[in-house]
Amino acid sequence: METTEKNNLKRGLALFSGGLDSILAIKLMERAGFEIIPLFIYTPFISRKFPLEIKREFISLYGKEFAERVIIHETGEDYLNLVKKPRFGYGKNLNPCIDCKIFFLKTAARYMVDLGGAFVVTGEVIGQRGMSQRKDAIFKIEKESGLTGKVVRPLSLSYFPETILEKNGLIDRRMFPSIRGRDRKTQLDLARRLGIKNFPQPAGGCLLTDPGFSSRLKVLLMEDLFETKWIHTIKFGRLIVDNGIYVVARNNDENMKLLFLKEQYNIPVYVPDFKGPVVAVIRGEMEYAKLLSCKYTKHCAS
Ligand code: SF4
Repeated sequence: METTEKNNLKRGLALFSGGLDSILAIKLMERAGFEIIPLFIYTPFISRKFPLEIKREFISLYGKEFAERVIIHETGEDYLNLVKKPRFGYGKNLNPCIDCKIFFLKTAARYMVDLGGAFVVTGEVIGQRGMSQRKDAIFKIEKESGLTGKVVRPLSLSYFPETILEKNGLIDRRMFPSIRGRDRKTQLDLARRLGIKNFPQPAGGCLLTDPGFSSRLKVLLMEDLFETKWIHTIKFGRLIVDNGIYVVARNNDENMKLLFLKEQYNIPVYVPDFKGPVVAVIRGEMEYAKLLSCKYTKHCAS
């Protein structure tokens, strides 16, 4: 094999979610001598945080040096279209996990090629979660993304066919853990052994799996308002569908978030001149937003 080819085989992209499994997968590969570039794919559904806050969280969890290496890719219209009309359908809520994973892998594949890598690492554990982590689904996702044989899953390596790395004699599956199922004990032991002390709790990430958020999202879908700015807006406050569509902040933190969205996306927002909640107007009238703000405070004179 040519040296350049060897060099490429020592570099990979990792789908990094910020959680324990993906950091473990990265550490295991680095320990095995590979250069891994972490890629975090930010969708408007990922959490109630914005990319800057996410970067800060990575710094506090994993240190500045690691956080600086993380590429944050923000999704656009193509991802929204996928959520609106998934080819492979939804999970329990509005989570199109199979389509989403294909999208993530395809995105990682593009970065992989651009950065001269040869494989994509994921923190997937066989049998851990719902439909997207069943083996048949995993194979389908891999095939659809055009990465057959190039997706390395260090946590469950022995349950999968050989990848490009084994075929080239660069890793030995016996050196990797064989994790399967939902029990997190092995991951926690491994984290201790690899010196990983801080990591967020699993789940709590993607709002598409949240029944409450999914029902809010259906309002946007039905009203043809499925846009990034409105998706961010309905993450906060009380959603009022009456005389239009409004979001009323419930506390000062939500006031600040709505004001941030006003600045970021120029969304119309009612800011009271009394001590009351900020109201975002997704569709409707400022006058009605003022009435709503009044309704949810005792400091309104009118
Ligand atoms: S939980 Fe959300 S981010 Fe994860 S695969 Fe499903 S839709 Fe995508």
